[in-house]
Amino acid sequence: MIGSGKIPLAAAVALAVLLGIGPSGGGVVSGFHGDRVPLSHPEDPAPPPRPVEDPAPVVYLTFDDGPHPVYTPQVLEVLASYEIKATFFVVGDMVRRWPDAARQIVAEGHSIQSHAWNHDTLTEFDRREFIRDMNRTQTELLYATKTQATCLRPPYGATNSKVEKWANELGLTIELWDASGADWTDISAEGIARRVLRRVAPGSVVLLHDGGGPRSRTVSALDIIIPTLLEDGYRFGLLCRTNPLSVEPAVCAFSLAWPRGGLVAVTPCGTFNSVWPWREGPNPSS
Ligand SMILES: [Zn+2]
Repeated sequence: MIGSGKIPLAAAVALAVLLGIGPSGGGVVSGFHGDRVPLSHPEDPAPPPRPVEDPAPVVYLTFDDGPHPVYTPQVLEVLASYEIKATFFVVGDMVRRWPDAARQIVAEGHSIQSHAWNHDTLTEFDRREFIRDMNRTQTELLYATKTQATCLRPPYGATNSKVEKWANELGLTIELWDASGADWTDISAEGIARRVLRRVAPGSVVLLHDGGGPRSRTVSALDIIIPTLLEDGYRFGLLCRTNPLSVEPAVCAFSLAWPRGGLVAVTPCGTFNSVWPWREGPNPSS
């Protein structure tokens, strides 16, 4: 008589699957998110993790005062030719003027970080002014590149315990440098390279500039600095991670509750200018 015998558990489970019965209802096999999330990401730009015992010393190239419509792409071209990455500390108001250059930095896998809104001396700010300055810069970064800085390089390296505390409250780590090329002074490309190479040690942070003045000598110096360091066995690291935003291109995200809450709102881009009164009008066309 059917029903009097016991059905083995495995058979029961198999039957349930065939009939579409189960804890999640029907469609057990059809794939959760299977039609939307690819199983693999062949274009994933992240490199495989390096072995812990990797003996290669690391050096961090950093570029301040950009983005610049001429020199930033030139720096990026040199970096791409050696297949290395760097960290760019950008000025918020320059990102507003030259968003394409900022986007190129991110698109090519480099790290983009904050160098304040207008290169002011942050130690002269009170807390309110500091937060406003950081907010404006982060907002511009979000608007232009859909990323958010995690590091702050104070202009002129001017910092103190007060600035550090405020920065930390906003989730920003202060990053300075130990190997400057002094490329804002009137020295040759060879002089810039010599200065950097004399100072570099494992773990060094190199300071150069892609904005704030003519930077052709800096671009030329890179063609001395990078191959020399590669020959010495250095690898090039990213100093700060960039927080990417996973938002659709059709919307803009911003952090209304910054510094406390991070991202709290997503809005159609068309409403963005009216939300942020300090974005004064469209970007200059040249
Ligand atoms: Zn600077």
